Amino acid sequence: MSSTASLAWHDGQPFSEAFGDVYFSRASGLAETRHVFIDHNRLPERFAALADGAVFTVGETGFGTGLNFLAAWQSFREHAPDTARLAFVSVEKYPLSRDDLIRALALWPELAELADQLVAQYRSLPPGFHRFVFDGGRVALTLMVGDALERYPELDGEVDAWFLDGFAPSKNPEMWRPELFALMAQKSAPGASFATFTSAGFVRRGLRDAGFAVEKVPGYGHKREMSRGVLTAPPEAAWRAPWYSRPALFARDRTAIVVGGGVAGAATAASLAARGWRVTLLERHDALAQEGSGNPQGVLYGKLSPHFTPLTWLLLAGLCYSRRVLDTHLADAPDDWQACGVLQLAYDDAEAKRLQGLAAAGLPETFARAVSAAEAGELAGVALEEDGLFFPEAGWLHPPALVAALASHPNVDVRAASGVLELEYRENRWIARGAAGTLAEADAVVLCQAADTKTHPATAHLPLKTIRGQVSELPASESAPLTSVLCGEGYIAPARRGRHTLGASFNFERTDNALSPDEHRGNLAMLEKLAPSLAGALAASSANVETLPGRAALRATTPDYLPLVGPLADAARLAEVYAALANDATLKLSDPAPWLPGLFVNAGHGARGMVTAPLCAEIVAAYLENEPMPVSRALVDALSPNRFAIRALMRGKPRKPP
Ligand code: SAM
Repeated sequence: MSSTASLAWHDGQPFSEAFGDVYFSRASGLAETRHVFIDHNRLPERFAALADGAVFTVGETGFGTGLNFLAAWQSFREHAPDTARLAFVSVEKYPLSRDDLIRALALWPELAELADQLVAQYRSLPPGFHRFVFDGGRVALTLMVGDALERYPELDGEVDAWFLDGFAPSKNPEMWRPELFALMAQKSAPGASFATFTSAGFVRRGLRDAGFAVEKVPGYGHKREMSRGVLTAPPEAAWRAPWYSRPALFARDRTAIVVGGGVAGAATAASLAARGWRVTLLERHDALAQEGSGNPQGVLYGKLSPHFTPLTWLLLAGLCYSRRVLDTHLADAPDDWQACGVLQLAYDDAEAKRLQGLAAAGLPETFARAVSAAEAGELAGVALEEDGLFFPEAGWLHPPALVAALASHPNVDVRAASGVLELEYRENRWIARGAAGTLAEADAVVLCQAADTKTHPATAHLPLKTIRGQVSELPASESAPLTSVLCGEGYIAPARRGRHTLGASFNFERTDNALSPDEHRGNLAMLEKLAPSLAGALAASSANVETLPGRAALRATTPDYLPLVGPLADAARLAEVYAALANDATLKLSDPAPWLPGLFVNAGHGARGMVTAPLCAEIVAAYLENEPMPVSRALVDALSPNRFAIRALMRGKPRKPP
């Protein structure tokens, strides 16, 4: 597990006690960065030569203070065409604390404008992948937290230029290993370059053995020599399951139809719009956010497992990414987003065990910390009886405000009252039709319609189910001013405009959205168990469940509780092409998957769309732009909409498309 860096400050400059080395040159870190990493990868020239809309990917070892990233971003701004984009991938085993990052970056006033943007988004970094978006989408940082040798194998992306940093090889031999150089070669785009400040013989030999042509050139300042080079003998590509590979790029004019105006649709539209796509967002209701994303309050809450399941990796990255999205889009809107913290309380033995496991899982204390019942009560402003785990950076939001903010990009054309009844693929274009005829035409379609995603013939096989959820709304009481979100079997949020939202029920039977007194009763019973004192203070206003306000909507979920995110294959042809898997699930077949060109899904987010849908929108955009994924390759595969069909084949039981 990673942990926060412990820094010493020598003459005002950051120094790692653990490695006994400096983060950057004392004389002039920025000048050295420019000399070594920027100039010797020939970035100014390569940035200037980028085609319109092209993506250039830098890969770094050792994010440290982010100085190299900021210098690359600055150079990109200076040299690249306006429509080109920078994808910067880095890894960091010991992320700096926010305070240390601020202090270190204050040393470079000329980078202040960029540093401020990084700092604004820089919070706790639990292990795994983290996506940051800057300059309205022109620059995307994928920061992998963990050991370089553990994280780089998980990268799904190709690097054009490597910044091989990470303390002197003599001080950090664990990282400078042949395995790392081989990984760099594997994750390189054709013609990838590298540069590093060291000219140590074993590093040069290792890079050469991995396939790089290596040159020694003059180093910066007092350093006589450094190394740079280009990949000239790329390794053979490892086998990758073709049913989880990326479909070939096909977009001609970067246009997309997104179907569904909830958080998944709005976030998908926003991620594509930020990449220069023109998006038509089609919503059947008269306004956006009328279904699962329409509740007055939603919570940044994820039920993490100490066993780090794929769902936990998604939630960890999603919690951090959604927080950044909220800070970017809903800053200064206290009725729409409150980072008041979220308390998860140990309401029974199994939950107590899960929370204890998590408290010991090595997550940063600033992300989640164990609290006693007394401390929890102080944080929440009401007496509590259970110990718990506090997530200080989480909180509640008003989902319709997030949806509206995401959909407000000038490249997004929102069409309400535009239900899609038919999708047709003709002459390399998708056509969406509604009751009154053609609604839109585009290169790509992304279906973000919760369980209704499967209402199209091409998606009818997807195993999406609905679960009705009802929230109850209770007037706030002055005697119990709740100050953080409480979560147990359900949740209650601090009051928004004088009312708490609590909920939500889980009802697999009903598919309507009429209010149910029984489900109100269930929500009140949940509150009674979670916080009896608060339930008591709110009892008077909740006495009549027949008249209690609330809202019911349908969530969509899948058999493994992970959303469906990515490209769709033709289900019948998939079963034919990979029929041999029924006899031997380990076969390394190489036939390309029968993709439905340009048809994607982002759906099935269950009760946690606020946490998972925005990050999953970045995954869809990464597919469509062939850029680095914001999550690990294993997670990309685990989210693939084709996974159930492939698993059924492997079990020898192909799913019959209806
Ligand atoms: N590029 C950084 C910058 O712009 O500030 C400076 C990097 S600093 C010299 C080296 C960084 O590499 C440290 O932050 C250190 O924690 C990180 N590091 C060292 N070994 C690592 C490993 N095995 N995996 C990931 N990060 C590592």
